[in-house]
Amino acid sequence: MTRITSRIKNVRQRLVDAACDCGRDPAQVALLAVSKTRPVEDIQSAMEAGLTCFGENYLQEALPKIEALSGEKISWHFIGPVQSNKTRDLAAHFDWVQSVDRLKVATRLSAQRSSSATPLNVCVQVNIDAEPQKAGVLPDDAELLCQAVSKLPQLRLRGLMIIPAASDDIEKQYSSFMAARQLFDQIRANGLPLDTLSMGMSGDLEAAVRAGSSMVRIGTDIFGPRP
Ligand SMILES: *Cc1c(COP(=O)(O)O)cnc(C)c1O
Repeated sequence: MTRITSRIKNVRQRLVDAACDCGRDPAQVALLAVSKTRPVEDIQSAMEAGLTCFGENYLQEALPKIEALSGEKISWHFIGPVQSNKTRDLAAHFDWVQSVDRLKVATRLSAQRSSSATPLNVCVQVNIDAEPQKAGVLPDDAELLCQAVSKLPQLRLRGLMIIPAASDDIEKQYSSFMAARQLFDQIRANGLPLDTLSMGMSGDLEAAVRAGSSMVRIGTDIFGPRP
């Protein structure tokens, strides 16, 4: 077994354990492999272990990888900060953009997504702990942005993406994730059919699953520490 294969096995086991601990079905939590800074060969190893969804943060780094793997059945997720002058490439080459945090970016992505392609899947990124330096819409503004994004023709609003304040304290992690979960439930109750709550990384996947995550984004614990 390669190191990546055995790390993936570990992550899958953690997901199963975390889901079972709180009575959830592990199949309801998707695993997104965050391949930023990693070469194509590492992505291929992860594919051999059965992974099909990969997340990238930097457009210039991602494009050659997407090109090199263009024959493969991969779903590419953009999870980094979106600059408005990059939306055309994002709309053309990615299946998902999880880091939409303002209407201007969403409007551009919709306008630039080819009308012959399926709509681009998007999540609204929420700055759940209202950290001053962090990307994402503030929790109080999230629902309005979701309503606006949901009306754009070439986008399919799937849900929310969350990066909480960094903490080693599992109860702190959990309370941020629960705030996100409540926001998610509220937006759904008000009529938007969201199906994706993207939260949980290498250091906090257990707390995220307990709070109802439907997609964890794992880099370090699959590919090893980043350079
Ligand atoms: C890098 C990154 C991850 C993965 O983080 P790890 O701690 O390496 O698992 C997840 N989500 C986003 C948005 C990231 O930028």
